[in-house]
Amino acid sequence: MLENPCYERARELLLSNVSTADTERIPLSECGGRVLAQDLIAQENVPAFDRSPYDGYALRAEDTALASKEHPVTLQILEEIPAGAVPTEEITAGTAAKVLTGAPIPQGADVVVMYEKTEFTDDTVTLFAPLMVGDNIVHAGEDIQKGAVLAKRGTVIDPGLAGTLAAQGVSMPLVYKVPKVAILSTGSELVEANDVPGPGKIRNSNRYMLEAALSRLGCEAVYLGIAVDTVEGISKLLMQGVAECDAVITTGGVSVGDYDLTPAAMEAIGADILLRGVDMKPGMACAYGTKDRKFLCGLSGNPASALTNFYAVALPALKRLTGRREFLPQEINVVLLDGFKKKSPATRFLRGRLDLKDGTVCMELPKDQGNVVLSSTIGCDVMAVVPAGSGPIEAGAVLKGFLI
Ligand code: AMP
Ligand code: MG
Repeated sequence: MLENPCYERARELLLSNVSTADTERIPLSECGGRVLAQDLIAQENVPAFDRSPYDGYALRAEDTALASKEHPVTLQILEEIPAGAVPTEEITAGTAAKVLTGAPIPQGADVVVMYEKTEFTDDTVTLFAPLMVGDNIVHAGEDIQKGAVLAKRGTVIDPGLAGTLAAQGVSMPLVYKVPKVAILSTGSELVEANDVPGPGKIRNSNRYMLEAALSRLGCEAVYLGIAVDTVEGISKLLMQGVAECDAVITTGGVSVGDYDLTPAAMEAIGADILLRGVDMKPGMACAYGTKDRKFLCGLSGNPASALTNFYAVALPALKRLTGRREFLPQEINVVLLDGFKKKSPATRFLRGRLDLKDGTVCMELPKDQGNVVLSSTIGCDVMAVVPAGSGPIEAGAVLKGFLI
């Protein structure tokens, strides 16, 4: 078991202890936002045939070599080819076919001219300038070449990939199953959001905070309920979570007080504790483990601590669980628009909002970065990392950060 590792080491350890969810085939129309579990190799050229991008005329460029305003060239129209039709005639010297957008280019033709650039009747088309071979033809394979790797396993299916799967005839793509992640709120002081807290009680914020975070990640949140601060109460629900879900996230009871019983409950169900505490602020208190190859993530009860640790430490492992191939956050440099007065003996995570001022990646800092101040996390989309041992940070300082 690691004690208080740095957050990078914690991430690595957790990543090596989670595997990806199982796979399933689902209808293409339900696949948006899911994670592809197969490499997508092009089986077909797209488009499959040379086609016209415009309404116009398909002809032989050679026939227009001497065309000019003074000496126009007139060609005989052999047929009209709408999209979806098949040409029946070969274009030979002196002839053309009327083509509509998406129509296959007939044999013999090597250029398309837009109808706006011509004069035409039902039977003839007249050209006033030479055309270049290949102009205005969308060639077979121009979008996708057969054999090309279009997407790797672990890619999130976005609109472009959904459409590309369709273009390849993949109507039931193989995707990772949506991981089920249990949420367990521990704390004898908690009541649900629709209850009126009695004396000494508080509403359970963490449940809803984590449900929202999990849904953004593409996980199904399964709420187990509130456990009072007893080892039996917590371990009973932990066991249920392990039995029913791929991972369990708890909040509360991971510090070192008399009523901090989540790690003891993890041990009581026979879990392997991987680490306790991470050298970071907020979010230092935490306990991670595994049980029956399920991932256990014990976060602080303080909402902002829990959320910071979730983003900084737990998220890569949860992303791997979803099957994503990119699970570590991409680092960016952010310019702080506001200073931060406190010293940072431990690595500190500042939450904030991206501001792309004049094309520079800037970050606006909510004033209160405290570990109980959940409201200041509203709208935050970036975290900046203040290295351990830093003094106060001036506005304008550049810090390493990552998007959340
Ligand atoms: P703990 O981590 O159990 O020591 O809790 C730290 C602080 O977070 C205490 O003030 C708790 O009352 C509070 N807290 C614990 N769980 C929740 C929760 N689910 N929602 C909001 N606050 C909580
Ligand atoms: Mg507690």
